[in-house]
Amino acid sequence: MALESSADDTCVAIVDHKKHIFSNVVIKQHAIHRQYGGIHPSVAIRAHQENMPHAIRKALCEANMKMPNIDGIAFTRGPGMGGCLSVSMNAAKALAAAHEKPIIGVHHMQGHALTPQLTNGDEMDGYPFLTLLISGGHTMIALVRSATVFKIMASTVDIAIGNAFDKAARLLGVVPDPGKGYGHALEAFCRTGDEAGEPAHLPTAGRPTFAPLSYSIPNPHQPSQFSYAGLTSAVQRALRDDTVDKQGIARAFQNAAFAQLIHKLNNAIQECQRDGVSIQAVVVSGGVASNLTLRQRLRETAFVGVNGKPPPRFIFPPPELCTDNAAMIAWASMHRFLQHDFDDYSIQPLATWDLESIGAQNEGALS
Ligand code: ATP
Ligand code: FE
Repeated sequence: MALESSADDTCVAIVDHKKHIFSNVVIKQHAIHRQYGGIHPSVAIRAHQENMPHAIRKALCEANMKMPNIDGIAFTRGPGMGGCLSVSMNAAKALAAAHEKPIIGVHHMQGHALTPQLTNGDEMDGYPFLTLLISGGHTMIALVRSATVFKIMASTVDIAIGNAFDKAARLLGVVPDPGKGYGHALEAFCRTGDEAGEPAHLPTAGRPTFAPLSYSIPNPHQPSQFSYAGLTSAVQRALRDDTVDKQGIARAFQNAAFAQLIHKLNNAIQECQRDGVSIQAVVVSGGVASNLTLRQRLRETAFVGVNGKPPPRFIFPPPELCTDNAAMIAWASMHRFLQHDFDDYSIQPLATWDLESIGAQNEGALS
């Protein structure tokens, strides 16, 4: 059984080592945070505290199991909002202590990165693979050498891409469907209206003249750095003109956000190939990876291979397992449960936690 409450979803899942997902409960909080313009920490903690017992009951019922059927309890140790992480951790410790079960604390982004091993088993072909982790709090390209050895090749210098989608959607006044978030709503908004219409032209940060936002790639001299703050500011500036075509702006925002991902990913693929690292696949995971326009664009892009080597395949988990869930936490804990490598009951949550530090041995260089 795994428990996850690092942000605004209360999640409990039951999974076995044969990759069977017996239950996967997600209780979302989108609606209660809408009035705050983001996740309100104390409101999120209270909602997790209320929802966690229901999520645990529901996960056991849907799996038709009772606690004696459970062999161990995993929980998201970090990174995330400290108080929110504590809800899962305390529930896991209490359940484990009462039922004499082992516990394991898991890195949330390790969960996102390893999800396709659980869901896309046939496509996954061992290590190393590259992962593009795009979510509410992260924008990252990492080389995954094993379940615990990650090398971060790129990350964001300011806000994460998912956060930028949320901000842009709110600025554009897009209303999410019940149970869905702003990112999903912005993607849907881009699909409506006349797609063949004139593309929006927006001023890019620091430029005196108008330039198409879709060509704006911040920090072109730092190929390993993502940046999304300027893009949301560009949307904000463009909306000062109330006659502007909002769908055009939304599409220009989405295009620019994805152009940056594709640009850096291409660099990372080439860097790996130049260093002789044979990449099995590129795993695209995290909430933004549920965006179907991005999936299509990545598949259509002619990524460049080096020295005649073909570019790697793309692997996407099912959209519902790209956003937060506890099945991914259960799976990321599995190799440790199987090795009886348990955590002590005194373990504490980590609001910040370097993905490169989770492995016992940490490689500094690519090769
Ligand atoms: P992190 O994983 O970095 O800790 P998180 O857990 O809060 O952050 P996830 O649940 O992994 O984030 O992803 C949520 C993010 O994904 C939100 O910012 C949301 O707007 C974005 N998102 C979800 N669906 C889509 C979509 N279809 N298009 C773009 N963005 C999306
Ligand atoms: Fe997440």
